[in-house]
Formats: sequence, structure tokens, C-alpha cells
Amino acid sequence: MVILKKCESYDFILVKEKVNEIFLESNLLDKINEKTNVFVKLNLVGPFDPSLGITTHPIVVKAVLEILSTKTKNIIIGDNPATRDQIATLKKCGIYEIIKEYDCKILEQTIFTKITNSNPIIYSEFEVSKQMIDADVLINLPKLKTHTLAYMTVAEKNFFGLIYGLNKSAWHVKANNPLHFGNAINDLYGALLESYKGKTIFHLCDGILGLEGEGPSSAGDAKYANALIASYDAISLDRVACELVKLDQNKIYITNIGQERGYGEGDLSKINIIGNQLNDFQDISFKAPKDSLSHIGLKFLKFKFLRNMILEHPKINKDKCIRCGECVKICPPKTMKIEKGQFPHLKNNQCIRCWCCAEVCPKNAIEKSKRPLIGKIILKGDK
Ligand code: SF4
Ligand code: SF4
Repeated sequence: MVILKKCESYDFILVKEKVNEIFLESNLLDKINEKTNVFVKLNLVGPFDPSLGITTHPIVVKAVLEILSTKTKNIIIGDNPATRDQIATLKKCGIYEIIKEYDCKILEQTIFTKITNSNPIIYSEFEVSKQMIDADVLINLPKLKTHTLAYMTVAEKNFFGLIYGLNKSAWHVKANNPLHFGNAINDLYGALLESYKGKTIFHLCDGILGLEGEGPSSAGDAKYANALIASYDAISLDRVACELVKLDQNKIYITNIGQERGYGEGDLSKINIIGNQLNDFQDISFKAPKDSLSHIGLKFLKFKFLRNMILEHPKINKDKCIRCGECVKICPPKTMKIEKGQFPHLKNNQCIRCWCCAEVCPKNAIEKSKRPLIGKIILKGDK
């Protein structure tokens, strides 16, 4: 079941009313009492102003905390931003003051635990933030965004934030083919489902203001989708989100892999949508990331040398770059280098096209090059 609510602004009274309806219709509040430990997982990809549509909006966080705090005082909240500085990121995202107002605890980023997937494809074991796992109820608050590597990032992909800061980079090196990466994310999601067996995971997507184009960070463009989308099933939520913004279901490969592996229901005809219906969002559509590939195209490109030959690569826009070096720090295969006072440069043939550099760039200075001619010919029709 997916609960869909039209919500056309971040007016606090309106958002609280919609969140309250969602919590009641899902019976989520029945699972929470004064002894319940709740973890609220944000999307805090980096320190960005809420108007950019990149991180969970502070008004959605405030509405959630206002309602939850009437049931329990045991609330921990946070994320593992790629840039690691969670407090600075919370402040820039407008959430820090709200956390203080409701007297919640902020995630301790130094305590870890291991979770395992008993049926893995790439990874079986994960070192993740312990407080996220020890809670009785995990409430996931993702954004509705496009994603240059993953095509879309909504509920399931938001759990990549269980992994601490730069440790995410190692993943990209091992799972450097997008389909491997999709399986690795599903390995993590499966491990999370196993560790929450008998407990509750609930997803509430802030899709009031989302991100289209080259998401999930400053290279994307903020766009209103006017939606709050909620479910106990991340796969169903992500499938509905894709339909709502009129993107291509064949390209949400993380969701499709999750459906194939039995982690949720991704068949739209089998998902019961309550509240508003998809046709209430007829005027909403998002631009896809440029030159995104279908599942079949990705299978064809499983070898790195093929991807190097025919795909676009990151390009530094020197008019925007402030030479901060954040892209260099995060680059998983260390193919980016920077000399003091210079612009970063990269070796294209070592790039694995994870787009982590674009994700952390504070100035939207990392762009996609044009696709090489040979790529345009070979991938003609796969757009
Ligand atoms: S240059 Fe950017 S896209 Fe290429 S591997 Fe490094 S971080 Fe990933
Ligand atoms: S490209 Fe972006 S992240 Fe990299 S040095 Fe320039 S401004 Fe910093």
C-alpha cells in the first residue's frame, strides 16, 4: 500500500495536517508509545539550502517531530552526509534548530554495528550506524529526486546513508558497474530488512519540492511535484514516485532489482494507492538525467573499457569551480587530483562514472561532457 497526498506548499499547518493523515491511515502511531525508540533518517546529502530541493525540507521534519514527540521522547535523528560534517550540514539545511526545538538526539557518527544479508549478490556484511539499527521504529524521510547514476533516488537509495561518509566510496570501486551498484544497494536494503524483522520501517518521501535533471545534488534543478508519498514498502513507494513524475520505469534499475529479489512490490497494478490518485498529478513531470540508459543498455555496458569508450565523463566548469577539493577527496578510484591553487583534473580512463564528485560539489561545477560519437551511434535508441 502507498499513501499519496497532494501538498502544494511548505506551509507548516498544511504539511502537519497531511503528515498526520498519513500517520493515522498507515496506523504508524499505533506502533509507537512512550518507551519506543524512533530513528528518523534524513536525506542530508550535503550542506544545501532547503530551497534547492536536495535535502529533506525542514518543515517536513518539523511536522514529523511535532507529531512523534506527542508519543515518545526517544527520538534520534540524522544521516551520514558524504562530506561527513553532520552538524554543519544540518545547520545549512535548516534542520538543526528544529531538532533542538523538539529536544531530539542527533545521530552519533562514531558508533557502528554490523548487519548481514543472508542472500547477497555483491556484499553480505555492512558496517552501519548502530543507532539507526537499534531503534524500534525507523522512519525514512527521503526526497523525490532524479540521480545521474541511479536515474532516481527516493526511499530505497536513501539507505546508502546508513554507511558512514567516505566509506561509501569503497562501494563504488567494488560495485563499479551500475547494475552491480544496484545489487549492492539491494544487498544493503535486504540486510536492513533482516535486521528490522519484527520491528517497523516506514518511509515518508518529501516530494513537495523535488529535483529533476542531473540530481541528486547541486547539478539538478528544483521542481515542485506537490506530493507526500508514504509506505511501509520502499520498492512500492519508489515505483509510484517514478510514475508520478512520468519517468521511465525501465530505468529505475535499483527498484527493479529490488522487485526481482523479492524485497517489495514494484508492479504498479498490484500496488494499492490510497489518498490522492496518480491522475491528481497529471500536470507533474520531471526531466530525466541526460543520456540515462535502460536496464538493457546497462547490461551491455558492464565492462569498464566499453563505458570509457562510449559514455560521457565529468568535466570541470572552471567558471564555477572554487578549487575547494571536495570532489578530489571523495573520488573512489582516486582518479581526480588537485595541486595547490589549481583546478582539479581527472584521468578519464580511470573514471568509474559514479558521479560522487558532482554530488559533493558545492558550486555545481562538475558537468557531463558530450557523449562521444561512437557512443551516440552504438546507444542510438537507448535514451
Ligand atoms: S571523477 Fe567523479 S565520476 Fe569519475 S570516478 Fe571520480 S568521483 Fe566518480
Ligand atoms: S569542482 Fe566543485 S568540488 Fe571540485 S574543486 Fe571545484 S568547486 Fe570544489
